[in-house]
Parts: sequence; structure tokens; C-alpha cells
Amino acid sequence: MIDYRSLANALSASIIAWRRDFHQHPELGFQEFRTAGIVAEHLNALGVETSTGVGKTGVVGIIEGARPGPTVLLRFDMDALPVTEETGLPFASQHPGLMHACGHDGHTAIGMGVAQLLVETREQWAGRIKLLFQPAEEGLGGAAATVRDGVLENPKPDAAFALHLWNQIPSGQFVVQEGPFMAAADSFEISIIGRGGHGAVPEDTIDAVLVGAEAVNALQTIISRNVSPHETAVLTIGSFRAGQAFNVIAERAVLRGTIRTFDPTVRALIIRRIREILTGVTQAHGASFIFDLKDDEYTPAVINDLDMADIAREAARQVLSPEQITQIRPLMVSEDMSEILNRVPGCYVLLGAEPEGGARGPHHNPKFDINEDALPLAAAIMANIATTYTERGSAAANG
Ligand SMILES: [Zn+2]
Ligand SMILES: [Zn+2]
Repeated sequence: MIDYRSLANALSASIIAWRRDFHQHPELGFQEFRTAGIVAEHLNALGVETSTGVGKTGVVGIIEGARPGPTVLLRFDMDALPVTEETGLPFASQHPGLMHACGHDGHTAIGMGVAQLLVETREQWAGRIKLLFQPAEEGLGGAAATVRDGVLENPKPDAAFALHLWNQIPSGQFVVQEGPFMAAADSFEISIIGRGGHGAVPEDTIDAVLVGAEAVNALQTIISRNVSPHETAVLTIGSFRAGQAFNVIAERAVLRGTIRTFDPTVRALIIRRIREILTGVTQAHGASFIFDLKDDEYTPAVINDLDMADIAREAARQVLSPEQITQIRPLMVSEDMSEILNRVPGCYVLLGAEPEGGARGPHHNPKFDINEDALPLAAAIMANIATTYTERGSAAANG
């Protein structure tokens, strides 16, 4: 067994420095040119076979172990968010309106650390480890883009793992569980079409603001009255835009929202009820509607494979103490790692990264921050998961 914990601790200062540099220079999805450049340079310097431009701005490195064995993919996401940072950290974003508010700066730095750990120890493990530095995780389809670009071929991974730092969980607590873990996410846009007119002559108009407001209220009954209380689902209208002037009745209202589910039949029910409710509400007022469910922005649920969850748990036990391994309820957030997990058995895990004194803001918040102590720990866990898997596969093949 390789002592990744000590090796990662020795790398800790580098991993933290990389993270702070990425944090200062956040880049949105599919625009991670600077980030990808630094990753590729690091992999090249380690002598790792590296491809760039995978799914536009992704980077893939392949590290061969000393003996033949299976191939495992580790995925690290790199993108930031359109958020203006308010942490006041000395290494805060230098780009107003852009922030690493989900911790992907940490993930990229962890991936660079994992690359170094695996290269340092390559004489001690079997198989082949493929590192994917993925672009555009934040709802932009980065994982699917890398799949289309062939990241799951030549060589095809036999298993895949990814880790997310989570600042709502005490630092160093590790979550691994089989089955449904993160929800499927849909996004949609509803246009309510009325008839605009003078704010003082309502009788000649069909008020899209009023019809839209009724639609928002009525849509909330889907979760409370149509979905079984034994199921889990969310329907959120996050944006409502209508009208330009205080004295003009709006012709059109545009509502945008998201649906989160685990079960495809619940998802189908919610989509059907949205159409039915919109039909009823708009007919009642003489308005019409367009319901645009954005198929290209659909993210499937993250379902962890039973055997792969066992591997991740076993590998984590070698790095952590037993009380650091914990369980939580499945999360309603989504994760496009599911695009990979739908094609390759694998497991998505979380490592707690709550800052000292508690998180000042959750993920995607302007005050979001992580506990940097989690960074080397995450690198040790991911390196150990990878080689635990490949070693086991190699032993099975030989014996
Ligand atoms: Zn996020
Ligand atoms: Zn994230």
C-alpha cells in the first residue's frame, strides 16, 4: 500500500498555491484557456502523455503504471461562475463578475497534485490512469462535450471517479454512497403571450404579468399535490421577466426555471403537469404560451455503482480514520459527471471542506470559500482510489 497521505502532505504547499492562482484567475465554462494551459504545462513537465482541446478546453493526461492492468478515469472540473466575489480573501478573484464559487479551482489543483503523486509512485502500481480536466461543468454540458470528443475511448476506462469539495460538510469528512446521489436537472423557459396596451385601459389587453403570476403559483402545486410525498422533486421558477414601463401592460412574460428529480416517471409527471397547468391558466385569460424544455441542457442523475462505491470506501479507509467516513441524504443539485457515469461504472464522492469557523456562504454564493486543508487530503484519496481500483483489476486478471 502506498502512503499517499504523507506524499500529498509533502505536496500541500504546491497544491494550495495552484488553487490560489486559479482562484485569482477564474474562467467561465469553455473559456478555461489559461487554466488548461497551466494544467497541460504541469502534465508535460511530469512527462505525462497529454492531449488538449478535449471538449474545447479540456485536458487529458494518461499515466501508465509499472504493470498491465485496467484503465481508470479520474475527473476534475475547472470552470468558474458569473458571480462577483465578496470574500475579501487576499487571493480573491481579480476579475469582477467571475468567481470560483463552487471550488473547481480546488479540484483543478487537486488533479495536478494527483498527477504528481501518480507519477512519483508509478513503479508501485498496475494499470493505466486517465486524468480528465473537464471544462464547463456548471450547466454548460462540458462532460458531454468531452465524451463526444472521445474521452471514453482509446483507451476506454473500465471505471470512473470524481470528487467534489463541499463546504457544507465539516472539513475532512468523506461521503461515499451507492445508488442515487445527485438529482437530474432540467431547465425550461415559458413564454406567456398576452396582448399589451395602455396601463390605464386594461379592458383592451391581456396582462401577461398577471397570467404569469398565476402560472407561478399554480405550478407550485405540482410538487405539493401531484408528486407523491414519498418521492423527491423540486420545481423552481428562478427568473420572471416582463414589461418595460410602469404604465404599459406587458404583452409577454418569460419565466425560466429548473426541475430536479431522481425518478424518470416523476420527471415525466412534472413535465406533463406543467403543460396542463399552463394550458388551463392561459385559456382562462385568453392568453397563450410556449413551453420550451431545453433538452440540450438536461443533466441526468448521478447514480453511483455499488462495487465502485465499495472501492472508493475501501481506498478512503486507508487514508482517513473510520469516523471521517460518513453518509448524507442525496443532494438535489446536479452534476454532469452523470454523463460519464451513465457510460462507465463509477462513483462520485464528496469531501467536506468547511472553512474554520464555519462557511460564510454556500456553493455559488459570493462569500463561498473552502478549507484548504481538504486539498492534499482529496489528492491522497483520489490517487488511492485510482490505484486501489487498478491494482485489484490487475490482481483479478492474474489470479
Ligand atoms: Zn457548482
Ligand atoms: Zn461544482
